[in-house]
Amino acid sequence: MDDFGRGDACCTAAEPDRVTVVQLAPSTGLDLVVDTYLSLGDGHLGIRAGIDQIGELQELPEANRRVPDRHVKDGLRHARQGICIASTVVERWVLHFDMDAFFASVEQLTRPTLRGRPVLVGGLGGRGVVAGASYEARVFGARSAMPMHQARRLVGAAAVVMPPRGVVYGVASGRVLNTVRAMVPVLEQLSFDEAFGEPFELAGASADDVERFCEDLRARVRAETGLVASVGAGSGKQIAKIASDLAKPDGIRVVRRDEERVLLAGLPVRRLWGIGPVAEEKLHRLGIDTVGAFAALTDAEVADILGGTVGPALHQLARGIDDRPVAERADAKQISAESTFAQDLTTLDQVRDATGPIAEHAHRRLERDGRGARTVTVKLKKSDMSTLTRSATLPYATTDASTLIGTARRLLLDPVDIGPVRLLGVGFSGLSDVRQESLFPDLEQALEASDVPAMAPAPSAEPPPAAWRIGDDVTHTVHGHGWVQGAGHGVMTVRFETRSSGPGPVHTLPDDTPDVRRANPVDSLDWPDYVDGLTAETYQSSP
Ligand SMILES: [Mg+2]
Repeated sequence: MDDFGRGDACCTAAEPDRVTVVQLAPSTGLDLVVDTYLSLGDGHLGIRAGIDQIGELQELPEANRRVPDRHVKDGLRHARQGICIASTVVERWVLHFDMDAFFASVEQLTRPTLRGRPVLVGGLGGRGVVAGASYEARVFGARSAMPMHQARRLVGAAAVVMPPRGVVYGVASGRVLNTVRAMVPVLEQLSFDEAFGEPFELAGASADDVERFCEDLRARVRAETGLVASVGAGSGKQIAKIASDLAKPDGIRVVRRDEERVLLAGLPVRRLWGIGPVAEEKLHRLGIDTVGAFAALTDAEVADILGGTVGPALHQLARGIDDRPVAERADAKQISAESTFAQDLTTLDQVRDATGPIAEHAHRRLERDGRGARTVTVKLKKSDMSTLTRSATLPYATTDASTLIGTARRLLLDPVDIGPVRLLGVGFSGLSDVRQESLFPDLEQALEASDVPAMAPAPSAEPPPAAWRIGDDVTHTVHGHGWVQGAGHGVMTVRFETRSSGPGPVHTLPDDTPDVRRANPVDSLDWPDYVDGLTAETYQSSP
């Protein structure tokens, strides 16, 4: 790198994915390798160190670790002052993180009596479907997406059927992913309980190092949440996902480079990403049953069978070529709408009335975007031009208009207290594809009962509900938090327990006793500090 001076940047090989960050030591002009990180694939590089104002190398704050990739091109790449970016060949390690039997595990976590028992989570009605099955239920052949009546028949009398509590799963998922993020800052989340990651520090690592990293990750999630995850690792997303499947339950599977081909070749062709029932059927008719048989076809044959668009991409995957980047799904942007009023608003009623159309406008934009929002922000600009912002974060992302607009309304401030308002804005952020309503259509009702976004105990004035359902969360003046195990003929059976209590006692009570009230399901997690942190409202003033 003799030709380069301070402030220049360089590239020693044409491997755009594999980037080494180099600092040219100012005094000697010698290059000093700072660290090696991978391209994040979304037009950014993951860089952990930078040069500060006085020329010292320092750790960059997390937010600045993503450097636009446009600095990096061809032979000579201009990076930041004093940093040199050079390419080198580094082995890629992609992780696939997947919670084990997530919904059923959260039920067993928060209702300790259910631990070790075959739990089926899902609709109780005649057409209900299994949303989650514990490993104890899977032993009998019960699976997610199976009709509930079929799963019950398979498991027999021991089956414990619980209605889904999406709000609890959402909070648990948030805490799990926060824990993972502390070790893997860039996560591509696939669902509630699944994500890809490509930790910078594993670029070029040995398989043993990767295994240690995954073990540490699992241990931290378990310590923080009490929940069990399996982790798979390999050279790309597909192999990592296959590996996590092999790792289950409660394990790790690191697929080394030299075993990858054999492993892939033996799998049923359906296991390939993007091979659905139709493609599978076409391939079966031609006698192609395994990934290996599919990989052995020529490009032309594949294009013939599966078409010229998807065929070649699937063929690449079958041969173990998977360069798809791991990237955070586009989010963190805010979708908002605001309005300036001809005349300042001076009463709370005026502010409330004005909020409706603005929030609805923002909500229409959100619907067009297709994602759900977790955070609702209202902005109030006063006649003295100062701005007040208040926001609240829901336990999960939603597109539900009444939840989002209702949350915005609750954040409003009274002009009598803060002074006349000349501009009002409503914003939705924390946008993500993860929307659990599709899984839990009854979720919004559950949320109404728990007074979104406050996750405080249900108001004491609430009258007893018409009928208790199995799985309802309740609180008793003496026995504390519990859940309804059975109800009918004027009595209810309640098991009093939470995550932290261990298996609890059961009491039979009159079903109209004033001692029992409906409770927030989230309380069954007994994570008061974490949940308080989630619902803390942020106040912010700016001139
Ligand atoms: Mg899972």
